[in-house]
Amino acid sequence: MKQLEDKIREKGRALSDQVLKVDAFLNHQVDPALMQAIGKEFAERFKDAQIDRIVTLESSGIAPAMMAALEMGVPFVFARKRKSLTLQDDLVEADVYSFTKQETNRISLSRRFVLPGERVLVIDDFLANGEAALGLTQLVEAAGAEVSGVGIVIEKSFQPGRDKLIERGYRVESLARVAKLEKDHISFVEVVR
Ligand code: 5GP
Repeated sequence: MKQLEDKIREKGRALSDQVLKVDAFLNHQVDPALMQAIGKEFAERFKDAQIDRIVTLESSGIAPAMMAALEMGVPFVFARKRKSLTLQDDLVEADVYSFTKQETNRISLSRRFVLPGERVLVIDDFLANGEAALGLTQLVEAAGAEVSGVGIVIEKSFQPGRDKLIERGYRVESLARVAKLEKDHISFVEVVR
């Protein structure tokens, strides 16, 4: 997605050859017009997948997932990283090791908001080692629903997440695929569509 690649080139910063900082438009400040375009792009890519619901992970997945849900006309729900007093029963849970925070979170989702038999699109902001996305697929499947695809805003293609998801049979659509991170240059995988 050219608009997203341009924004990453313009506002993204490589903190190392492994970590990309995009807090100017996705992880802290959020660019609503870009999120709207991202929502439209996900809706276009998954238009034949008969999606019933979108599932994402708080907090940075919420903006792109909500715009995609709005565009597709389906509900969306975000998995929680912390237990809340109001979210205690009927949960499905999975452990996710965070690449950026270097800690394990138990993520959870209420069975009330992912129903058996639903076709679910999993969306997340980044794909690195695949932990977060795989955790989300576990939650969806534990609730008895089906993962119909995984939509990622920024994939770091030099890390193994994509291969792990494909190996497990999931369809992966990433809107920007970063091939290499260098201090003054960010390059993308050439995609022929
Ligand atoms: P994974 O679980 O695939 O290893 O990593 C994905 C999660 O870690 C995402 O939800 C995202 O929050 C975070 N993450 C991984 N790599 C990066 C990165 O380079 N930059 C930022 N901002 N977040 C990342």
